[in-house]
Amino acid sequence: MSWKAYEIPKMKCENCKKESQWLEIVGSDFICHRCIGKHRVIGLILRTHMDTFNFLVRKLKIKNYEELIQVRQEEIEKVADLKKHGIFLKKEE
Ligand SMILES: [Zn+2]
Repeated sequence: MSWKAYEIPKMKCENCKKESQWLEIVGSDFICHRCIGKHRVIGLILRTHMDTFNFLVRKLKIKNYEELIQVRQEEIEKVADLKKHGIFLKKEE
């Protein structure tokens, strides 16, 4: 048996394949904060309001990272009153 058999599997981001301590469950994927941060709005929500982030993933029935990155601001605003959560966004250009 090689020493590798004793290695504890580390968690990797499904998108960038890098190991990270900070992974979020996005449907069937584990995604690191850096990749989630590529979505301007959702990245901001994750940084400041993690519970709202989890709520949105559930509410929008996001199945994986690909879907997450394509969510539009108006879809987010439809299911969550962001202002009530204390989240203020600039209008989409
Ligand atoms: Zn990543």
